[in-house]
Amino acid sequence: MNTPTPGPWQVATVKEIIRETKRAKTFRLALSEPSRHFAGQHYVVRLTAEDGYTASRSYSVASPPEQSQDIEVTVERLEDGEVSSFLHDVVVPGDELEVRGPIGGWFVWRGDTPALLIAGGSGIVPLMSMLRLARRSGRSDLVHLVVSVRSPDDLYYADELPGSDTTVVYTREMPQLWARPPGRLGEDDLRHVLVERATAYVCGSTGFADHATSLLTGLGFADGRIRVERFGPTG
Ligand SMILES: Cc1cc2nc3c(=O)[nH]c(=O)nc-3n(C[C@H](O)[C@H](O)[C@H](O)COP(=O)(O)OP(=O)(O)OC[C@H]3O[C@@H](n4cnc5c(N)ncnc54)[C@H](O)[C@@H]3O)c2cc1C
Repeated sequence: MNTPTPGPWQVATVKEIIRETKRAKTFRLALSEPSRHFAGQHYVVRLTAEDGYTASRSYSVASPPEQSQDIEVTVERLEDGEVSSFLHDVVVPGDELEVRGPIGGWFVWRGDTPALLIAGGSGIVPLMSMLRLARRSGRSDLVHLVVSVRSPDDLYYADELPGSDTTVVYTREMPQLWARPPGRLGEDDLRHVLVERATAYVCGSTGFADHATSLLTGLGFADGRIRVERFGPTG
């Protein structure tokens, strides 16, 4: 099954804005031209100023594929970020945004093969679509999501995440009574959640993605079984 070709630019209406953390908000967008997406794909959001200046950025879909009438994207606000700070500080429900998608054919999970999902910070967004798909289709046995965050306050989707199919790694501060001391993601965090014959999906900053990839290689993952999405400055 091929991934759909991204449609033309379309208008999406902001239906709801949900605060995830101090620096992250989820935007539920009603598409004027709904199109089914695959878990892992993204949309491009384009802002146009009155003088015609445009700025476009990619945002992964957090919602699962079967919920394609509306899509949800979760955006981290960067201090000097042109598009992310506009979305956070200016956009309100009822506003219209220009979007194009769904985009991406490599970093997608179709829901029927084993997958180890490894996220750093906002890199959880496309992997959340995968986890939601697995849970909704009763195939949680196929996936395990490991998410690395600085502190409990930085964890997206905190109420929804807990389950035997997820592991949270805190790098700086941990919740009370948490067994693992804070520290960088290590081989031990991954060794006990390895899913047999899995493809690994790694998403986060370039530094995080490189670190997680080298851990996986150390654990015997072949390069061909590791798919990486980087949320870097060039996005
Ligand atoms: C395929 C893809 C999917 C993405 N999905 C998401 C998503 O789901 N949620 C999300 O929040 N972001 C996501 N991103 C990142 C997003 O596209 C933007 O890069 C990000 O929102 C910053 O845009 P900005 O206009 O606010 O910042 P800019 O004005 O572009 O940059 C402001 C400053 O921050 C630096 N910077 C830019 N991007 C990042 C970054 N990601 N991390 C740290 N520093 C950065 C720049 O070098 C610059 O100094 C994705 C990127 C890609 C390529």
